[in-house]
Amino acid sequence: MTEVPFPLGPEVLDPARRALGRGLCPECFGRLFGRLGHGWTNPERAARIAEALGPMPPAWACPVCEGLFDRIPVWVERCQAAGVEYEWQRFACGSRWDPELLAREEALWLEVGTAGGESIRSAFNRELGKRLEIASKAEGAPAHPDVIFLADLPVGRVDLTVMPVYYRGRYRKLDRTLPQTRWPCRACHGIGCDRCQGTGKTYPTSVEELIAEPFLKATGGEGTRFHGMGREDIDARMLGTGRPFVLEIRRPKRRTVVLADVVAEVNRTAKDRVEVDGMTEAAAAEVVEVKEASPWKSYRVGVAGVVAVAKINEALTFATTRAIAQRTPRRVAHRRADRVRTRRIVEASLVEATEGRFTLELRAEAGTYIKEWVEGDDGRTDPSLAMLLGVPLTVEFLDVIEIHDEPKV
Ligand SMILES: [Zn+2]
Ligand SMILES: [Zn+2]
Repeated sequence: MTEVPFPLGPEVLDPARRALGRGLCPECFGRLFGRLGHGWTNPERAARIAEALGPMPPAWACPVCEGLFDRIPVWVERCQAAGVEYEWQRFACGSRWDPELLAREEALWLEVGTAGGESIRSAFNRELGKRLEIASKAEGAPAHPDVIFLADLPVGRVDLTVMPVYYRGRYRKLDRTLPQTRWPCRACHGIGCDRCQGTGKTYPTSVEELIAEPFLKATGGEGTRFHGMGREDIDARMLGTGRPFVLEIRRPKRRTVVLADVVAEVNRTAKDRVEVDGMTEAAAAEVVEVKEASPWKSYRVGVAGVVAVAKINEALTFATTRAIAQRTPRRVAHRRADRVRTRRIVEASLVEATEGRFTLELRAEAGTYIKEWVEGDDGRTDPSLAMLLGVPLTVEFLDVIEIHDEPKV
């Protein structure tokens, strides 16, 4: 920082004369002019004024800070104690004050007539941060801290906020009985009841829990949030290169893990159910990015229905040339607004056909309900494949085989 001279004109010396004899400590005296000059500490400002006005009377009990700045090392220790169980390289710090003390300081500015006073709160936060950087070999980083220390001055305690860590990757789901996220029991809302055998859950486990467990073990975190780029039905597999997700770990004790080892542990413990790869550390902002994406998807669908191959091919060709009006399916109507959406199937092909069964591969616009497009949902999807073929159809299985989230070339 370039040094800007500290002015010693009447705008400083007049208020300084009025402040003499009030018993201010050098920090509080200099801070009356803390916004004047650059590259000076407040005690240095006080020393400059003393050069002009003569030595200041010693301060026994500073009426503004009551000796707080002498006790900063104590607050540094309290911060370190609050964060001792956690790994942190970057921190932010703040403080909570008795409002009367802050008001007293502003009253003093008026009484002595200074226009360049700096608030005790910002001076304290800055000094605490500087000392904590040195004592902890950590970096003050208010924009992206690992932890936030809040010095509660009236109470004499430091409150610690631990920021989450985020990991991004893709998962494949090979099991048709797994929900994507923890699913609280509908009867007890997670408390545990007879219906859920005390687990508080509708399903014994989930993609989230299978992935989270090794991450919680590695990071010592207290819990997770799972942010998927959409979700598949419980009975649908998620194949291909998998579905992007961000795993958020709350209050992690360790922030540096050997990611390859954790991923290997997920793939070992969730074998034949869930696989993850492409894992990297992620930023908080990627949660929004993943949640807001609406990629097109490819599906493989197994259908039961008696119909000739030529007719299927004809219907698929027709289906890809026009839009579908899709009213909110009956099975999701309890959680989605009932309205009609326009969607498109952009590619459709017949993969195989045997007596009474056939398999399709489809590529569809985000938000297309595939099961309903095949079966018709009692006319709520128009046209449906069943409608085009003129026979009843039943989806026997549905797999997502690709999420097209990468920019198209
Ligand atoms: Zn003071
Ligand atoms: Zn229950």
